[in-house]
Amino acid sequence: MKIGVISDIHGNLEALKAILMELDDVERLVCLGDIVGYGPDPEPCVEIIREKADIVVAGNHDWGAIGKTSIDGFNPVAYAAILWTSDHLSEDSRNYLASLPLEHREGKYTFVHSSFSVPEKWFYILGPGDAEKEFLYLKTMAGFVGHSHVPGIFMKSGARVKTLFGSIVEMDDGSQFIINCGSVGQPRDGNPDATACILDTGSNEVRIIRVPYDAEKTRRKIVASGLPEVLGDRLLIGR
Ligand code: ZN
Repeated sequence: MKIGVISDIHGNLEALKAILMELDDVERLVCLGDIVGYGPDPEPCVEIIREKADIVVAGNHDWGAIGKTSIDGFNPVAYAAILWTSDHLSEDSRNYLASLPLEHREGKYTFVHSSFSVPEKWFYILGPGDAEKEFLYLKTMAGFVGHSHVPGIFMKSGARVKTLFGSIVEMDDGSQFIINCGSVGQPRDGNPDATACILDTGSNEVRIIRVPYDAEKTRRKIVASGLPEVLGDRLLIGR
């Protein structure tokens, strides 16, 4: 079975539509949270995810926008955007975001927004050192995360943890893997294209995909909406 895994949409409707078109043939869709925050279309993005995704877990911006997690640690731009987002969500969508779990485990796979140790603390897994700590809490062969907006794959074989360079990995049961599927709506690895990954449960292959979209259109919507303009500019450079 092919499963599409997407994360960190952040109210970017253009990027979400482009990535869903690319994932047209997957049999299931998993969303790792941060559907809202930063972008100009939180409500339409929540509506699409509710309709299309089979599994959804909560991100810090999803809960930040509805007051379910603290936004004290947000930088000033993220803080301004989350207040704007809070004003642009329907009651229905707020209830939906509040209902999302922090983690979903299924067979060989764990899905979470940030980390496995304490999901509600929203830790980042940025390098092999972070990954090594988090592998101690991963109870399945593979764990899928988002949150950093930087796609990447970490592997643990025996006691050794390393970063895998490349966008495809064939997972084996003797090892464990942490896969960051990157960000649909606000990539930060220097590549502005929307990111996601595809898991083939038959072959245990994971592939990170990139899809170009009309980031300039999203930038214009951000400016017109009154959100901080820097949130539009960064989309054009993937930072
Ligand atoms: Zn995010």
